[in-house]
Amino acid sequence: TDMLDPAAPPDPHALLGAVFGFDAFRPGQAEIVEAVTAGRDVLAIMPTGGGKSLCFQLPALCRDGLTVVISPLIALMRDQVRALREAGVEAGALTSGNTEEETEDVWQAIEAGRLKLLYIAPERLASGGTERMLRRANCTLIAVDEAHCVSQWGHDFRPDYLRIGDLRRALGVPLAAFTATADAETREEMVRRLFDGTPPQTFLHGFDRPNLTLAFEPKNKPRDQILSFAEARRGRSGIVYCGTRSKTEGLAQALREAGHAACHYHAGMEAEDRRLVETRFQQEDGLIVVATVAFGMGIDKPDIRWVAHADLPKSVESYYQEIGRAGRDGAPADTMTLFGADDIRFRRQQIDEGLAPPEMKAADHGRLNALLGLAEAQVCRRVTLLAFFGETAEPCGNCDLCANPPDLFDGTTEVRKALSAMLRTDERFGIGHLIDILRGTETDKTRRFGHHDLPTWGVGADLAKHQWQAIFRQMMGLDLVRPDPERHGALRFMEAARPVLRGEAEVTLRRDTIKRAERRPAVKQ
Ligand code: ADP
Ligand code: ZN
Repeated sequence: TDMLDPAAPPDPHALLGAVFGFDAFRPGQAEIVEAVTAGRDVLAIMPTGGGKSLCFQLPALCRDGLTVVISPLIALMRDQVRALREAGVEAGALTSGNTEEETEDVWQAIEAGRLKLLYIAPERLASGGTERMLRRANCTLIAVDEAHCVSQWGHDFRPDYLRIGDLRRALGVPLAAFTATADAETREEMVRRLFDGTPPQTFLHGFDRPNLTLAFEPKNKPRDQILSFAEARRGRSGIVYCGTRSKTEGLAQALREAGHAACHYHAGMEAEDRRLVETRFQQEDGLIVVATVAFGMGIDKPDIRWVAHADLPKSVESYYQEIGRAGRDGAPADTMTLFGADDIRFRRQQIDEGLAPPEMKAADHGRLNALLGLAEAQVCRRVTLLAFFGETAEPCGNCDLCANPPDLFDGTTEVRKALSAMLRTDERFGIGHLIDILRGTETDKTRRFGHHDLPTWGVGADLAKHQWQAIFRQMMGLDLVRPDPERHGALRFMEAARPVLRGEAEVTLRRDTIKRAERRPAVKQ
């Protein structure tokens, strides 16, 4: 088309409509498109579905030469290439899934200098010819999709992503990196490995989903809690996420007994049965799917009205992704997450017993702690959540904490007692044993280590075991302490704990989570 005539200076806005068929940019897109088109190094962090691909496709059309797109997802690359070609854009992919003919077409387009976008899988970077080929093809921009794959502490690490930095240096062209993963460590690692440590222009946008109501509830009678949440939304499509497969079946059954249309879903089911549930959910109104995290990839239902977690997810990212499946149409949708001490234990154990290297386990504990911090947040849930992604916000008025601000108190004395129990025992013990020391509860272990002689022995006898657990949980949430996965969960001090120990900082705690603990049935010691 005329739009793609290289002689005419391409206008991003005109191309947005003519090539992509969109009326307007989404929030954040225009700035990113402008910076990438101008040839600046860019790191853009946007939530899944936020419209990242446009942010490198459009600049590719506005710039001279070829844009190489590195992506680990072959199916996604092929989709994008097909869509671009249908829109009249010269795009191609070199992947293992190509037919000979497709590959030949791509080469011809490169030879003729016609190709604007070339998608490659990271594995291709391992072959020496790629850099030469890109040079010959007049590659003037590198776009990296799923840029967090360069992080060794992440779960999607792709060793070949480590070659991207070399490619950038060799070609001497700008690089635009895109990801939905926003935690600070991953971001720092992307800058280090993709941009040689020189911070690129960074964009972070669009994590807020204002139409979602956010709420957390401590587990009390979890089945009843889920049933009453569903009851209040009877007839509306929803998802209940569970931590285990067996639980999905039981809970779906309970929902059916309460008169809801409900079915279960997990990865252990026959593919055919799973597809059946997916189709029903897509087509029926008001079906509840009780599922493990296996449900969701590829579910593209805009009018899911609620998502509940019967068990605590494993990280803030998972939480965000799972609640994010609700309300895609922008209409109000409700979310509610249950959490309890058993969940925390379950998640910790899952991490510790996993096969990941120690550093990754530590990172996973950190991710879980961040979620615990959100669960026991002291201010607006959305402000806390968005802060995790690096965005600032005003109290939202659409979360449980805005509706009912928690009762706070100065918990410095309690926290200091807990910290000093750790200090006296050289940070060598886990929460259970520390609570025994604080409460002066004799066990074989306290006797074996002679802990009843400690100055902290029994200084916390005024609080019940569960109250101390609530305090430790909040201390973890505030990142004052962290369990060390290499030492069976022995609690370690974090930097923020030192001023508290020295008496230079105070700690505010939530009273409700500690009071609530009081009402729990006493556990036999
Ligand atoms: P992701 O950020 O997950 O890679 P995509 O680039 O796949 O997201 O975009 C998600 C969806 O949003 C796609 O269906 C895309 O066509 C659509 N989209 C992207 N930008 C716009 C826009 N400016 N206006 C309307 N729809 C858009
Ligand atoms: Zn709020």
